[in-house]
Amino acid sequence: MTALCTSCGKRPAQFLRRSSGERLCLNCLFRSIEERVRRTIREERMIEPGDRVAVAISGGKDSLVLLDVLGRLKSKGFLKDVALEAFTINEGHPYSCFYRMSRADFVKGLAERYGIAYSVYNFKEVFGYSALEVAERLWKNGVDVHMCAVDGVLRRKAMNIIGKRRGWTKIATAHNLDDEAQTVLLNVLMGNLRRFAWLGLEDADEKDLVMRIKPLKYVREEEIAVYAHYHGIPLMELECPYVYTNPRYGLKFMLAELEAKMPNVKYNLVSFGRRLGEMLQGQGAAYGRCKYCGSPSSREVCRACELFEKAGLLDGYLRAISGYLKPDATSLVQ
Ligand SMILES: [Zn+2]
Ligand SMILES: [Zn+2]
Repeated sequence: MTALCTSCGKRPAQFLRRSSGERLCLNCLFRSIEERVRRTIREERMIEPGDRVAVAISGGKDSLVLLDVLGRLKSKGFLKDVALEAFTINEGHPYSCFYRMSRADFVKGLAERYGIAYSVYNFKEVFGYSALEVAERLWKNGVDVHMCAVDGVLRRKAMNIIGKRRGWTKIATAHNLDDEAQTVLLNVLMGNLRRFAWLGLEDADEKDLVMRIKPLKYVREEEIAVYAHYHGIPLMELECPYVYTNPRYGLKFMLAELEAKMPNVKYNLVSFGRRLGEMLQGQGAAYGRCKYCGSPSSREVCRACELFEKAGLLDGYLRAISGYLKPDATSLVQ
C-alpha cells in the first residue's frame, strides 16, 4: 500500500520532506514551494506595488524555476502593479556562464508564456570591454586572477549599471536555501562580520545600488530540482569547469552531514544571517564611495574599478559606463 500525502490526504505521496517529516504528493509539493516564495516576498517585503523587478537568468535550473514561480504568482494576481522582466548577462567568452547556457530559446519561451520581456546584455556594451579582454590584460600585467573572479565582479557591477539605466528597483536572483546557508557559514568561518552588515545595507535599498532580492532563499535545492523536472525545465547548464576550486564545494558536503543530525540547520543559518543583518544595519557598516566611479564601496576603489585599473583600461571603461548611463544613449537592449 502506498502512503497518502500528509497534506491533502488524497493523492499518493511522492516526496519526503526530511526536515519536517511530511510526505507530499507532487501537487502539494509544488503548491507549498509557491506558497513559500509568496510568504518570503510578503514577510520580508521583497516586492511591493510600483516595483520594477528584473529576474537574473543564469541559465541554471534555479533561475528558470524562479522565473516560472514569479510568472505564476503574477498571473494569479499576487504581484499587482509590479513590472517583471528577465535578463541575462553575456560575459562574452567561451567559458562564460552565458555560453554554458545552451538553451536561450527555452528562456525566451518561458518568459513569453507569462508575458515577461527577456533581454541579453553584453559586458562589451556596458564596459567597452569583454571579460576576456580585461582578464588577458590583467594576466599580461602579471595579476594573478581567476576568470570566474573577473566574471563575478564585472557581473555584479554590470547589474547595477544596467539596472540604473533601465529603472529597475529590484533584481531577483535565484539563490536557494542551500546557497544561502553556505554563504552564511562561509562568512562565519571567515570571521567576516562586515558581510552581514552589507546584506543589511542591500536590504536598506537605494544608495545607488539596485536592491537584490532572493525569493527562493528558503526553498531547498532538491525541491527546486524536482519542481524543474516536472515542469519541463531542462537541465541546460553545463557544469562550470572551475567548480572544484570553489571553497563552497566542500561546505556543501559539510552542511549535508550536519543536516543528517540537525534537519533545520540550513534554515537556521539563513534566518540567523538575516537577523544579524538587521541588527547590524546602520551599526558600523560605514562605507564610502569609490574614488573613480562613485559607487558605494567599503574600499577606496571598488573591486570593478580596481580590475580595470590593474588592466590599464580604466579611462576607456569609465567613459563607457558614463556614456551607457546617459539617458539619450542609443538602446543597447538586444
Ligand atoms: Zn497532496
Ligand atoms: Zn568604482
